[in-house]
Amino acid sequence: MARYTGPSCRLCRREGCKLHLKGERCNSDKCSLNRRAQAPGQHGAANNRRRVKEYSLQLREKQRAKFVYGVEEKQFRNTFNKAAKKKGITGENLLIMLEKRLDNVVYRMGLSLTRREARQLVVHSHFLVNGKKVNIPSYQVKAGDVISVKAKSLNSPKFKEIKEMTVGVPEWLSVDRDKMEGKVLADPTREQIDTPIEERLIVELYSK
Ligand code: SF4
Repeated sequence: MARYTGPSCRLCRREGCKLHLKGERCNSDKCSLNRRAQAPGQHGAANNRRRVKEYSLQLREKQRAKFVYGVEEKQFRNTFNKAAKKKGITGENLLIMLEKRLDNVVYRMGLSLTRREARQLVVHSHFLVNGKKVNIPSYQVKAGDVISVKAKSLNSPKFKEIKEMTVGVPEWLSVDRDKMEGKVLADPTREQIDTPIEERLIVELYSK
């Protein structure tokens, strides 16, 4: 399935919750969900009232996770398969692997305004991991990795704008905004991941 390139807010309205796809706007009064919570489309209001069946719930949860992390179906399924082979709880492994994607880590470090932008900046080779160029958004970071903005990119208007941002960074990461670089201190724990996903439903869906 092709990557979704339509309006981000439409996805939130469809899922009926904030997916935080537009950076600061999501925390402001401008958030579309505050103004129009109804699902998109002619029958949006009716759909909201419709009784949601178990399968539908599981499917929606999977779609929501895909939208939040900006991952296509095939890659999402591959990540799930890898998570299932790891020790521990599959659902938690899945979320931890999604969090450890380079594009997500760039976003979590506040080195981009949104995940979508993080993906674009990574693809355009603006970031180094341990001093080496990495332009693969799905690259899995590990504890001890240092992520930095390429020296040549630091003077661009985009990174000057990003540098001015004030963001909260999760405990498993640290960031030096003057240097525009961050370090992965450890793998995230489930409790440290605030994404509104019930991973149990995704495991149930893929276990059918
Ligand atoms: Fe979703 Fe609101 Fe952000 Fe739009 S502004 S992407 S509706 S959370």
